[in-house]
This record gives sequence, C-alpha cells and structure tokens, in this order.
Amino acid sequence: MIVNKTTNPRPRPAAGEKLGFGRIFTDHMVVIDHTEEGGWGEARIEPYGPIMMDPACMVLHYGQAIFEGLKAYRGVDNKIRLFRPQLNIQRMNRSARRLCIPPIEDEKVMEALLEFVRLEADWIPTADQGALYLRPFIFAYDPQLGVHAAKSYKLLIIASPVGAYFANGFNPVKIMVETEYVRACPGGVGEAKVAGNYAASLLAGAIAEEKGYDQVLWLDGVERRYIEEVGAMNIFFKIGDEVVTPALVGSILPGITRFSTIELLKSWGVTVSERRISIEEVAAAADNGTLQEIFGTGTAAVIAPVNEVAWKDKKIVPGNGGVGPLTQKLYDHLTGIQFGRIPDTMNWTVIVA
Ligand SMILES: *Cc1c(COP(=O)(O)O)cnc(C)c1O
Repeated sequence: MIVNKTTNPRPRPAAGEKLGFGRIFTDHMVVIDHTEEGGWGEARIEPYGPIMMDPACMVLHYGQAIFEGLKAYRGVDNKIRLFRPQLNIQRMNRSARRLCIPPIEDEKVMEALLEFVRLEADWIPTADQGALYLRPFIFAYDPQLGVHAAKSYKLLIIASPVGAYFANGFNPVKIMVETEYVRACPGGVGEAKVAGNYAASLLAGAIAEEKGYDQVLWLDGVERRYIEEVGAMNIFFKIGDEVVTPALVGSILPGITRFSTIELLKSWGVTVSERRISIEEVAAAADNGTLQEIFGTGTAAVIAPVNEVAWKDKKIVPGNGGVGPLTQKLYDHLTGIQFGRIPDTMNWTVIVA
C-alpha cells in the first residue's frame, strides 16, 4: 500500500473538548481509484484534503453514491477494536451492486481500513470520550452527462473523532410517525446504503424536528401501516415476552447493530420475531399495557431508548416511559464488547492494535 504521510498535521482536539459528530477530520484518508481499463487499483493513504472534480462529474448529476459507517473504539485496556467490519464491507458491496458500481475485493478494503486506523490511532478518543467514526464511501467520477453507469469511481475512507452519543446520560428519544412521506418502496434502494436515501428523508426529518421530535418513524410505502425503521436506525419493540423487529422486506436497511442485537437476544433465550408489525399493533399493545420497551439500533447510538412515539394525535408510550431493563442490558453489553469491558465471546471484534 502506498502511504503518503502529511507534513502538516492538524491540531488534535483539546482534552475535554466536545467532539460532536462529524465536524473534525483526521490527517489522512484512504483513496482507491477504479478505472475502466484497470478495475479497482491499489489502495493509497494520502493527506486529508479536497478532491478535484469535473463539473460534469457523474455523481453530481445522477447520484451514484454509497457509503458505510463504523467506529474504531479505544478500549479500557487501551486496545483498538473494530466491531464486525467484515459486515460493513460486504454491505458496501451489496449497495454497490444495486447502483451498478463495480464491487471491490473485500480484502483490499479491509487491509486499507486496518492500516488507516493504525496510522490515525492517536486520533481515537478514550472510551469515556467517544470513538473514531470511519466513513468509507464510493462515488461515480467520470465527467459525462449520458444516463448510464459511470466507468470510473473513487472509494475514499475518511475518519472523524466523535463524542459519546449519550454525552448527557442514556436519555430516551421521542420519535414521530411519518404519515405523508415515504423513505423507501419495494423494489427501490431502501435496503442499500445509498446517499440519496438521506436526501429523500431530510424534509420529513426537518418537520419532525420542528414539532419537537428527534427522528422520524417510517412506515411502509404501500399500505402505510407497517413499521420499517427510524431515521438512521432499525427499531425493536418489546411486547409481552416477545421482542419484535420488522422483517427485512427489501425497503429496510439491514443494520449490523440490528443483527447483533437479534443474536444477543437469542443467546439470552429471549424470543425475537422478525415479522411485519403495524403501527396499529404497537398502539393497541400500549393501550392494553403489554408494550414494555422500544429502542432503536445503529452504529451511532448503538442502542437508543425510545420513550414516545407520536402517531397522528396519539402518543404511544412504552412501559413507564423510562429506559427499559432489556434496552439497558443490550446497551451495556454491546458497548461493553466494543470497549473491551466484557469478553467478546461472539468473536465480533477485530483488534487493530
Ligand atoms: C446505517 C443505517 C442503519 C443502521 O445500520 P448499522 O449497521 O447498525 O449502523 C439503519 N438504518 C439506515 C437507514 C441506515 O442508513
């Protein structure tokens, strides 16, 4: 791998500085170019900085852009871990196929990722401060206005030290059921991590925020009844002794935190169902007192407790409205594995250094 180190390192965040999310970037980035003749080339690590782009660059016009998100964690034992990075690389290749982007060898991306994290290790916050968010992404690069798949692409990986998601305690979020707009439809690109999915969701997100909600709860695009996911998270409901999460029907992003949550729950003997679940069913469970817990799952928050779901003029509140015991146990367990506080019996983490 070609490593071209910066001669001009950036200032590190000050000790105790609030990192926020995605505002600060490290010294370097990974670049892998794809050309029509050569396919995906060799990975390079270069100083972080702007990229040259032709005004006819195809991504700006037809939107062939996909991304991934994962974190490097500095453990309480000072070891640096990634959480199931193979699954991010496999998912990136599935997203690529959906947008006619040529797939890249998993190994090539993994090697670049590991070398990059080692090089940027001193940017990784301590366990109590946060983690280093890694953002691999691919976009079409040809200058061309014909509507067809591009011939050249760029894969980049950039990194950003981010603060702990729950900096002010494990506080529940309030979400709003979206009844006008839809995020994804059967046969569309909802199950791929496509940049345009986010562009399409911004308006509903902004409206929810104006009304005082943290995120949008999306319903299916056909019947507008069945729950799909929340903003950038998958969603789970504990109803009686059953934990329910929407089945992956094609319009739902297959989250890695979602898979891990299902596996953990099963290993604890909890009944987990991946099935269709309507908003009416959730409202009825709240009314008859069996809706105990709601939580979202995703790399950013890991587990996010939900204490209110607004649906039309109804407010659906699980349990007593606080953080449920299973939600808390999942959060403690997953973050425990990520930060090396508890043994990784599932073999989920990759130790980088
Ligand atoms: C990335 C993402 C998720 C969560 O996936 P993780 O792999 O758990 O981080 C859920 N929903 C959407 C729409 C996403 O883009």
